[in-house]
Amino acid sequence: EVGKVADDSGLNLYIVGGFVRDLILGVENLDIDLVVEGDGIEFAQKLVTELDGEIKESHQDFGTAIVNLNNGLKLDIASSRIEYYEYPAAPPQVEAASLKEDLFRRDFTTNALAIQLNSKKFGKLIDYFGGQEDLDSGLIRVLHNFSFIDDPSRILRALKFSNRYDFEIESLTRELIEHAIDQDVIKGLTTGRLGNELALILMEKVAPEILLDLNRFNLLKYFHPDLTWTEKEYNLALKVTNIKEWLEGLGIEEEVDNCYLYLMILVRSLDKDDIRDFLLKFKFPNDLVSKAIFVKEEVKEILNLLLQSRLQSTIVYHKLNDLSIEEMAYLALITDQPEVKEWIKDYLVKLRRIELEVTGKDIIELGHDPGPCFRRVLSKVKDKKLNGELDSYD
Ligand code: ATP
Repeated sequence: EVGKVADDSGLNLYIVGGFVRDLILGVENLDIDLVVEGDGIEFAQKLVTELDGEIKESHQDFGTAIVNLNNGLKLDIASSRIEYYEYPAAPPQVEAASLKEDLFRRDFTTNALAIQLNSKKFGKLIDYFGGQEDLDSGLIRVLHNFSFIDDPSRILRALKFSNRYDFEIESLTRELIEHAIDQDVIKGLTTGRLGNELALILMEKVAPEILLDLNRFNLLKYFHPDLTWTEKEYNLALKVTNIKEWLEGLGIEEEVDNCYLYLMILVRSLDKDDIRDFLLKFKFPNDLVSKAIFVKEEVKEILNLLLQSRLQSTIVYHKLNDLSIEEMAYLALITDQPEVKEWIKDYLVKLRRIELEVTGKDIIELGHDPGPCFRRVLSKVKDKKLNGELDSYD
């Protein structure tokens, strides 16, 4: 249907980029990027009138629009364009161009494939730069020698894609990466773009492997001079899956996001102020900042506490009750002590679920005056219950 609207407007329409790559690889991808040879915004307007939907965003300067169709489909629509870089890593200048030129400005051959959507040529694969062959042989290859100079974020993208699909970086491309790194081109990227790439990397399933590559290529220093990701951090990160399975086995419903734990592992060699500066500079969300600082501020103390002999449940309850599930998962991740995991388990499956059958309201209903005294009494009773000092008749 989308293709028909393009037919009626006399425009060539293509689906491009990651969707086509993943279609050929048989990997699910729900991001639909369309390119129109012509005015993309005008096409977007036509689309929403004829197929029912709305334009969510449009950028006149770039000729792009985001369309939500009422059938639930979300489309990113762009006018085919070329981008000029006035100086290395500069924001690109945009000019209308053919599909071939549009594909040529893309990062890798595997991301420069298109499929035509017009009815007469529906499904035709357009492959100007050997993308299909590179997909077949598992290679990440740039389209020209200035690619990493134009946009150094492609260095991080190359490492991301090669690990995600278990592809090799083609040898000339690898040399170009090394050359670009020697020229310090990453320095030209804004913190916004760098932070965005790191956040995307942390969300990858293979983030631990990608971080090993970032370390190998000496790229972590652009985020913070003291960041490292060696075998030690890598091995810890591999245990994240075990901890998540352990939590799942305990019947814990809260989801632990891997990327939180990876980030907590990444920052553990920094001191507290550096952690805060690094995360705020790269615009990580505030809750993540506090979780990362936790790694530095409280972990030791809590681990020591949980290792004390004859520790009372109330103390554990009050200590762990302030922690997020990610913080507890991190504790479980870094400890070799079975007692620590036992207490976390105890807290998660038992202690935090203990409720008093009597509340302040019940006491008020019996005609007594409410007051701080009640709260104190109730909290004392709860502590006793946590410690197993009460049975149900008390
Ligand atoms: P993912 O599965 O990670 O979303 P993707 O290929 O769809 O992969 P996007 O970042 O959504 O990645 O970009 C969409 C397309 O835009 C890419 O396939 C590529 O053609 C192009 N592209 C994105 N970033 C760049 C870049 N830095 N330089 C050149 N082309 C890019």
